[in-house]
Amino acid sequence: MSNIVLDGIMGLCVADALGVPVEFTGREVLRKSPVTGMRSFGTYNQPAGTWSDDTSMTLCLTDSLSKGLDYNDIMKRFIMWFKEGKYTPHGEVFDVGNATRKALKRFLSGSTPLECGGLSDHDNGNGSLMRILPTVYYLRANYDTEITENEEAMEIIHNVSALTHAHKRSLIACGIYCSVAATLIGSMELSTAVSLGINKAVEFYRKYEEYSDELSHYKRLNNESFASVPVEEIKSSGYVVDTLEAAVWCLLNSNNYKECVLMAVNLGEDTDTVAAVAGGLAGLYYGYDSIPQEWLSVIVRRDFVEGICSKLNEVVSLKEETK
Ligand SMILES: [Mg+2]
Repeated sequence: MSNIVLDGIMGLCVADALGVPVEFTGREVLRKSPVTGMRSFGTYNQPAGTWSDDTSMTLCLTDSLSKGLDYNDIMKRFIMWFKEGKYTPHGEVFDVGNATRKALKRFLSGSTPLECGGLSDHDNGNGSLMRILPTVYYLRANYDTEITENEEAMEIIHNVSALTHAHKRSLIACGIYCSVAATLIGSMELSTAVSLGINKAVEFYRKYEEYSDELSHYKRLNNESFASVPVEEIKSSGYVVDTLEAAVWCLLNSNNYKECVLMAVNLGEDTDTVAAVAGGLAGLYYGYDSIPQEWLSVIVRRDFVEGICSKLNEVVSLKEETK
């Protein structure tokens, strides 16, 4: 049985783990000493194969969606991670973004899930983009049309983002990313699939006046020549626009999973998240079998991670069969 959940989520998890030891390392340093495989220790002093918040929050969402869509349940699982260290490699939380922390605190103080995400310009870190991927599987199984042709499906993506990141710039990033991910699941040629995915999302947002200002931030990404932007102009910061651009750029400028995620890590700065966002897409396109065995074999709690993926895959496969 094909397992598209495993393709994407393990693609994300392995890439996250590759980036963890060098998070915040600058590009120049990595140019002299590039990451070529799983390293130990580094930024957070963790053993090789240790994944971070990107994977933890993705797993919370994957696990929750295998039981249906329930924003309250998703938030409760985020809290189990944040407060109790559930869904972590070693029982401890070592990497939490500011906007996410604020949103989870709002939930703990009694706000409803969809009121928790920050709405200011400064709440546009990549914290919802890095964990949005599982939403694509849920939407594929539950909607007959393409994501971008369905307002309700797009609203679900926006709501899942808004649990922690509710600003329109973050919502659009998640919408574009999910559209690209969904298009990559087909058997189209890579660059055709990516530009089609971006185009379809942009067309959706163009229909709404309320998105027009924010959409301008994605103008460069939605340009046919985006792949040939020189690397010096690709930023790999934690800002959501930078992260989405960097991830798509790496996918377009590489030929396989390994090349894509190493390119993403070696851009430096927010290495784990840029790689995770790129790795989710590369995993979907090239498949689980393309992820190097020597990387998969050191992933901490690999059975736990793969078990959560397989559970959602079973649910979505059954749904798709009975459609
Ligand atoms: Mg992280």
